[in-house]
Formats: sequence, C-alpha cells, structure tokens
Amino acid sequence: MNFNTTELSDYINLFWQFSWPQWIIFSFIINILLYLFSIGLYLFIDKTCRKNLLQEKNHPVSKSDFYLSLFTVACNSLVMMLGVFLWKNGWLEPGSNLSAGIIVFEVIALLLVMDFLMYFFHYAAHLPFVYRLLHGKHHEHVSTNYLSLFVLHPFETVGFGLMMLVVLMCYDFSVVAISVYLLINLIWGTIGHLNREFFPAQFDRFFVGTTRFHNLHHLDETKNFGFYTSIWDRLFGTYK
Ligand SMILES: [Zn+2]
Ligand SMILES: [Zn+2]
Repeated sequence: MNFNTTELSDYINLFWQFSWPQWIIFSFIINILLYLFSIGLYLFIDKTCRKNLLQEKNHPVSKSDFYLSLFTVACNSLVMMLGVFLWKNGWLEPGSNLSAGIIVFEVIALLLVMDFLMYFFHYAAHLPFVYRLLHGKHHEHVSTNYLSLFVLHPFETVGFGLMMLVVLMCYDFSVVAISVYLLINLIWGTIGHLNREFFPAQFDRFFVGTTRFHNLHHLDETKNFGFYTSIWDRLFGTYK
C-alpha cells in the first residue's frame, strides 16, 4: 500500500470532523492504551533482561500510586484535548509532511528543544518550595517500579503538556513527527525508570540519558536533571 500525503490529509480531515464527545472517548482510549503499553514494555524488559539490578529492591507498588497513575492518564487526556482545541481554533497547525528526512529532522529538533526546557523545569521543580508541593511525590520512589513514570503531581503532568503545546505552537511540526516524538518520550520514560540498565554502557559517553543516569537522580536529587540526554547536566555542572 502506498501511503501518501493526500491519504494522511484524509485522515486528518476525518479527525477534524470528530465531535467533542468523540474526542473525549478517543483521547481516553489512546491514553489508557499508552499507559498499558508502558507497563507491558517495562515488565517485558524487566523479565527478559539479564543485567544486574541497579538497586537492590523495586519500590513497592501501592494502591495510592495506582490511583495517582490513573489520574496522570486522565491529565494526559486533558492535555490532548487542549491540543485539539488549539488545533480547531487555528493556534496549532500540524503539517502532513511525509518526507523521511524532514520527519527525522523534526523529531530530533523536538527531542533537543524539549530536553533543554525539561532540564530547567526539572531543576526548578527541585527548589525546596516547589519540591515540597509538587515534585516530592515522584521522589518518594527512591528505587523505582512500573508505575514510577506515572507517579507525578497533576501540575507536573499538565505542565509538561503545556510546555509541549507551546513548542508546537511556535513551529508547525508534522503529525507524524509529533506522534513519533510522543512515542519515544513514553518509551524513554519507561526505560528510564527500569531497575536495570537497558542501554550499553558506552551510550553514556554519547550524552544519552541512560537508565542509570535517571536512576542516579532518584538516589541523589542534586544531580542529573536531564531526560533524553546528559548534555545540559554536563554543561551546567550537575552531571553525575
Ligand atoms: Zn527530580
Ligand atoms: Zn523519575
């Protein structure tokens, strides 16, 4: 099957015609599926990976974390609907470009820009006042488990979403690039909270934000604020 720009535009048109109730159902289903995908991926790697544990024990899975993780899913759906609202009102104009070169360029640009912004917001989240109010919850997990990625204060979840929407409003990234970026973001967050190093050790030298890199942040909260890369930590002296 030859998938071309016209066909992609047809799909975009189909979504354009969704009513709000349809959008609400659609975004809930998509976000629940992504949540299940993350948990499934985590457990799959954890069961099949032969590498040593980074920390002796996984953080126990609690009922309250489970409910909070579901609330995070609801917040992500809300952000998605806000994105749709901005799209319907002309604030956001996702492109339908399908050129592989442009998509790769846009995905890398999104990863680097978001990594830079997340470094500063994560650093700010560790200021004592903000930490106590918002980010401390995530750090109750000193060692991690399959829910850690979703154990966030709702303001953090919505804050990340708003930051991304602002970036998307500044430049018309293509629908495909946005989708690929979001999938990488989810996979990265899942891998980053594993209790085993997923990446080969040399990756660290190429500035990749590995599992050990984020695991060390959970152990020493004054270091490693980056997410996809260690570039900004190395640059600003917070790298461990
Ligand atoms: Zn933190
Ligand atoms: Zn974390």
